[in-house]
Amino acid sequence: MSLESIKSIFEDHKNYFSEGETLSISFRKNQLARLRDLIEKNEKAIHDALKEDLGKSEFEAYVSETGFCILEIDKAIHNIDKWARTKSVSTSLLHFPASSYIKPEPLGTVLIISPWNYPFQLLISPLVGAIAAGNTAILKPSEVAPATSKIVADLIKNHFSNSYISVVEGAVEETQALLDLPFDYIFYTGNEFVGKIVMEKASKHLTPVTLELGGKSPCFIVGDVDLDLTIKRITWGKFFNAGQTCVAPDYLLVEEKHYEKIVPLFEKYINELYGKDPKVSDDYGKIINQRHFDRLMGYFTKEEILLGGDSDREAKYISPTILKAQFDSSVMREEIFGPLCPLIKIKNIDEGIKFVNSRPKPLALYIFTNNEELETKILERTSSGGVCINDTLLHLSSDTLPFGGVGASGMGMYHGKFSFDTFSHFRAVMKRRQMLDIPIKYPPYTSSKLSKIRKLLKFMG
Ligand code: NAD
Repeated sequence: MSLESIKSIFEDHKNYFSEGETLSISFRKNQLARLRDLIEKNEKAIHDALKEDLGKSEFEAYVSETGFCILEIDKAIHNIDKWARTKSVSTSLLHFPASSYIKPEPLGTVLIISPWNYPFQLLISPLVGAIAAGNTAILKPSEVAPATSKIVADLIKNHFSNSYISVVEGAVEETQALLDLPFDYIFYTGNEFVGKIVMEKASKHLTPVTLELGGKSPCFIVGDVDLDLTIKRITWGKFFNAGQTCVAPDYLLVEEKHYEKIVPLFEKYINELYGKDPKVSDDYGKIINQRHFDRLMGYFTKEEILLGGDSDREAKYISPTILKAQFDSSVMREEIFGPLCPLIKIKNIDEGIKFVNSRPKPLALYIFTNNEELETKILERTSSGGVCINDTLLHLSSDTLPFGGVGASGMGMYHGKFSFDTFSHFRAVMKRRQMLDIPIKYPPYTSSKLSKIRKLLKFMG
């Protein structure tokens, strides 16, 4: 798409927003219902696109993409009256006579940029918040998942006014052209390198941003623990979407006493979940493209394979693989983002905590233990975007928990009401009456006025 066309779409969105149609709650509810309808009626086509891009099973496509978004929409429709309500707050004696309230209002025209690993959910779920809060939105899907990008572009074009919600497909050039425009908000999900570009470009217009980034999410297995259930739950969370999940457990920190028992349990559960040959399993995904396949295969030459290690470049298939690793192994440098799981033996939790704290703050942190003392110590002494204790991934799917990173794993949060808040400005309003004008605030500032003010502030403190 030409730069001129992108500019003109942006202008159309600005104009549409300024007409005020998005302000009414009934308009927002109708648009959310329309989005829901679009997803339900076209679920099969969306799932087919996800199969083409990532080999996603229908179950994973529904649970983590279309069904996930429908739930977000339902929650928004159900709660929007409450979320959007003006909230009265108390007014201090100092301002008497007056009343005060906080009024949520839309930001204006927002940009949502998404990556390829959950190419539908990560575009549409933020859009739910943007619509609920009364904005107009331009969506930039990932070119790395082309089938999903195309179906989303077609569906949005056919179901929404193009000045209200539109899709700009394309790659770096198009994204950069969008980032040059003075949006009222930018919501970006993707890698850290591009996150820095987004923030730099946003700073030119002082545009606020949410950055949903990634990182290496650690997983502790320590103390008294049901090891069998632990490995079952990790197998599910690690190999969901073939390991291409931002909150997938990246590596395991396993206390010495459990270490030897881990690999046989992985063997058991990989077998149980995906069969003897995961390559022919309908439930196991594929690597997004050959570039990522080659990147992941690079680890195979450097690390000892404890389990798995099968691959097929043509089919973009890498089997669930367990690697032996140390803190300084090459697989411990970058986020893996694939079906490779390094095991690191730790003497005690202090050693694990020290390592985690020597790295950038992760998006997720997992603790498997039945020992509350250990759980509390890990929680208190580390930091991460979110935490799930004794399971994997599930904290992300709760609309009552904010989802987002901290430090290098990102800034800002969303899901449920947090999405509404992200795309809203909370306007502070004080209303004074045109009566009783207490003269104390006006010059000339006499010492008697100052003394009265001092007494008043002291009284109010
Ligand atoms: P990607 O390559 O699809 O890039 C994301 C978007 O950035 C795309 O729309 C792309 O067009 C744009 N882009 C790429 N290069 C650019 C450039 N130089 N300038 C401007 N725009 C550019 O996806 P990705 O970044 O490979 O996604 C994977 C990463 O995203 C992982 O690190 C993962 O952890 C993270 N992630 C985070 C979350 C989260 O919710 N926190 C969710 C999913 C993925």
